[in-house]
Amino acid sequence: MTHTTKTPVQQLCDTLHLTAQEVQTLKVDGNSPFPLKISNDFFAQIQPKQPNDPLLKQILPLQIEHQVAKGFSQDPVSDLTFNPTPSLIHKYHGRVLLIASPKCDIHCRYCFRRHFPYSEQSNTRHWQKALAYIQQDKSIHEVILSGGDPMSLTEKSLVSLIQKIEAIPHVKTLRIHSRTPVISPSTAPANTFLEWATQTRLNKVLVVHCNHANELSHQTETLFLRYKVAGFHLLNQSVLLKGVNDQVEALETLSHALFKQGVLPYYLNQLDRVQGAAHFEVTDDTAIKLHTQLRERLPGYLLPKLVQDLQQATYKSPLISSSI
Ligand SMILES: *Cc1c(COP(=O)(O)O)cnc(C)c1O
Repeated sequence: MTHTTKTPVQQLCDTLHLTAQEVQTLKVDGNSPFPLKISNDFFAQIQPKQPNDPLLKQILPLQIEHQVAKGFSQDPVSDLTFNPTPSLIHKYHGRVLLIASPKCDIHCRYCFRRHFPYSEQSNTRHWQKALAYIQQDKSIHEVILSGGDPMSLTEKSLVSLIQKIEAIPHVKTLRIHSRTPVISPSTAPANTFLEWATQTRLNKVLVVHCNHANELSHQTETLFLRYKVAGFHLLNQSVLLKGVNDQVEALETLSHALFKQGVLPYYLNQLDRVQGAAHFEVTDDTAIKLHTQLRERLPGYLLPKLVQDLQQATYKSPLISSSI
């Protein structure tokens, strides 16, 4: 036997007590250009000895990601054609999306920005220009912080950025799109950030990203409550993922689990067709059927909107049956 250093992917499989046979069947990729990255809290929610664990599936690099799939591209939502100044995307009426940080504590295999040129697009030196753009366009009443993950910034940077946004009078709402509260509840911003939140004039919305009820814990519940008390509206968006949450029971359980923790389901996104994620795709027909079944089981306020991000649409387009 030759001695080789184990890759982080192999180490993860070992820690989860997956057998050599299971690892071989999974066809893991130890050298992915979009490498394994996982937070401690998220890791703690993965069940050992389960090669098909729905959380493991979201983060484990597989060789199948190298297969080139037709219709899957590097920039599936055309972010870069609505890019008036670096780090800012102005595609939807009344709101802009600011790529506040290139970093994220986790690499979700289906991430639609896995090929995004972060080094060019996201840099604090771009903030001044982005803020100037927002300042000169009075139609912008909502600023959405996205990434990467905006909550991967230090609290000091995050608060400094949102104070600058707050200083623009026509901005009424600050929205944060972040997976940090779900995947890193023990380290998510909750100090200076919440001090700011309790006294700002802005409306505050926090859209978290959770795909499966197993991602939620007592820690997420405690953190969500703190955000709620500070005045945030809490919403969740999920991505429909084959093998993770493409069962009506899983989606139903997720909605109830979110509600129990004070979060309302917002969007259930059909997968963005980014290169490397084709094996997660659920067909539109299946997605629509699942959503109809979900509608039959849930009160209206727990039913997420099933949407897709079409390249030219200036809104998230509802996915509806074509066979009317
Ligand atoms: C998704 C998205 C938004 C926000 O859309 P809502 O329907 O308001 O949640 C804004 N800008 C861009 C570019 C988006 O992709």
